[in-house]
Amino acid sequence: MRSLPDHALATGLDLARDLFERLRAASLDPPGVTRASYGAGERAAHAIVADAARGLGLEVSADAIGTLHMRLPGRDRAMPAVAMGSHLDSVPHGGNFDGAAGVVLGLAVAAALRAGGLAPRRDLLVLGIRAEEMCWFPAHYLGSRALFGLLPREAPDMLRRADTGRTLAEHMVDEGFDPAPIREGRALLDPDSLACFIEPHIEQGPVLVEEALPIAIVSGIRGSLRYPRAVAHGAHAHAGAVPRTHRRDAAMAAVMLLAALDARWAMLEDGGADLVCTTGILATDPEHHAPTKVPGTLRFSLDIRSEDAALLAELDRWLALEALRIGGARGVAFDLGPPTHAAPAPMDEALRALLMRAAGTAGVPVREMASGAGHDCATFAGLGVPSAMLFLRNANGSHNPEEALDMADVGAALAVLAPTVASLLD
Ligand SMILES: [Zn+2]
Repeated sequence: MRSLPDHALATGLDLARDLFERLRAASLDPPGVTRASYGAGERAAHAIVADAARGLGLEVSADAIGTLHMRLPGRDRAMPAVAMGSHLDSVPHGGNFDGAAGVVLGLAVAAALRAGGLAPRRDLLVLGIRAEEMCWFPAHYLGSRALFGLLPREAPDMLRRADTGRTLAEHMVDEGFDPAPIREGRALLDPDSLACFIEPHIEQGPVLVEEALPIAIVSGIRGSLRYPRAVAHGAHAHAGAVPRTHRRDAAMAAVMLLAALDARWAMLEDGGADLVCTTGILATDPEHHAPTKVPGTLRFSLDIRSEDAALLAELDRWLALEALRIGGARGVAFDLGPPTHAAPAPMDEALRALLMRAAGTAGVPVREMASGAGHDCATFAGLGVPSAMLFLRNANGSHNPEEALDMADVGAALAVLAPTVASLLD
């Protein structure tokens, strides 16, 4: 493991603090900040980050779709680069750190390497990725998938931004970029040119705050099995006149199914499985429901996530059988509707081990945890690029103005990332 002098880490942390302040000032939209995908706030953030990268002596360029490539050149330019980065857009009135932390830490690492007088063999490539937040354009990992030519070719003309109703192509052209590579399915970065990808990101849940830990190493990005439009079909009946045995109560049957899922979740979790289950929608039909009516239909959603693809498949089979069993017993037909699947993205074992070792050497307390939310890192992992994520403690969740990232925790992350990256660059 390479080590860096304290003054080098302090230089990196100073840059990070300064960049966060400038990013907040440039995209302030009280309460919070707004950096719309291919919009003014994102443009300002890219300009600030590019300016800081030039100040560090990095080679800076934007590709045809606006991804910012910032390279600290190595001695052997032909070797695959070590890449870091994240996205620079935010939700409307969001926090200053979701996304930006990953790009800022990439530049902070570059600054620390420079200040430490290191002359690495490989390039360090810091990426400012476009359009990750799905609230603007309805496509996951838009910017990173476009970077690798993985977005559907019709996306620039089909996807419309939620606030303007205008197409992705129109917004890209407004910002001086070109949708042609997406329409042609053309990659703007060769995954084989990357030795690995590391994405630092704020934690979006409460675990690190509750456990008083500054950072976590991500074990994997959860995949999902979703039934967004499930329906229980029973029969409406009079609340007073119809005895229990004659009822086909859709609400009662659905509640039984959800309780069975919750019990199975608890059992699997006790056995060490990684799993989260959510019913975000649960509603009787307002056209026909009444306090004095047995409900004949109930609409609900299921969102089931795990790092383990086999577990998701097994739960899917279990769910189908359980719906038949409970439905049969209650005279209710479950129609779960069309599912959507997102594959889990495992993080690279060797990178995780290296980050763990660096944390040990730096004396930074750390744990491993799954990422419940999706991140650009999943795109890189899906292409076979060895990938890792580092979470930073963040109070108050993400996608809101109360995101809170302590600069001391940025320092802890830097103390782990800088020596890790220095070793990978050698
Ligand atoms: Zn994010």
